[in-house]
Amino acid sequence: MSYVLEPIGAVRSCFTAKFGIPRQSGLASNARAVLEFYPPYDQASAFTGLEECSHLWVEFIFHQFKATEFRPRVRPPRLGGNQTLGVFATRAPNRPNRLGLSVVKLERVEITGGKARLHISGHDLLDGTPILDIKPYVPYADNLPEARNTIAPAPPALIPVRFSEPALEQCKNHSARLGQALQPLIEQLLAQDPRPQYQQPDPERRYAMTLFDLDVAWHYWLKGESHGVEVCSVR
Ligand code: SAM
Repeated sequence: MSYVLEPIGAVRSCFTAKFGIPRQSGLASNARAVLEFYPPYDQASAFTGLEECSHLWVEFIFHQFKATEFRPRVRPPRLGGNQTLGVFATRAPNRPNRLGLSVVKLERVEITGGKARLHISGHDLLDGTPILDIKPYVPYADNLPEARNTIAPAPPALIPVRFSEPALEQCKNHSARLGQALQPLIEQLLAQDPRPQYQQPDPERRYAMTLFDLDVAWHYWLKGESHGVEVCSVR
């Protein structure tokens, strides 16, 4: 038996490359995106009432993950890449059907000329991600205070982020152009330390991620046992 699914729309996201995207939704509240829908799914009437909901589930395809033969075990980045787990014990993209599920904040329903677009935040979605469906978050059913997951018991520990003077200036200039405050967004993203966990933080090494049409470059600094990030440039 097989089912054919067609995307109902696509995500227009600040994240234009995979590296540096938060590992789950809800980790970077300053990350914004717009959900755009294809006809006939874009008609405003299909969204009537949605403005009553603060959060949404977005069901999507990990379209930038190349489909390979089924591999039952994966190496979650959270576990340092050294340990494997069963794919169904993780939220890794390399799963059968490449289906993803993210809960996001609904900032605004925009209706123009009878068509709807959804402005969201706190997402973990790459630009161009195909949307299969959206559903309202239902707090009484979806929020389970007794739920536990001892593999991922808490959000990742945050590290300090500082900015060089030129990087701050660049943030200011590009924020005005993009209509998005970049400094708080970059701070939230890098505080989660996107570096592959098997690599030691090396002050000599430069890292970069892509955000909108910009390269955000940083290096690590070490102080005793702890480390943090300095953003060198945003251009
Ligand atoms: N919250 C979703 C879930 O649980 O199904 C996604 C979790 S997955 C671990 C999040 C990562 O997927 C992001 O850090 C990003 O690297 C990757 N990602 C996001 N959108 C993608 C896409 N369209 N194709 C491939 N990878 C994507």
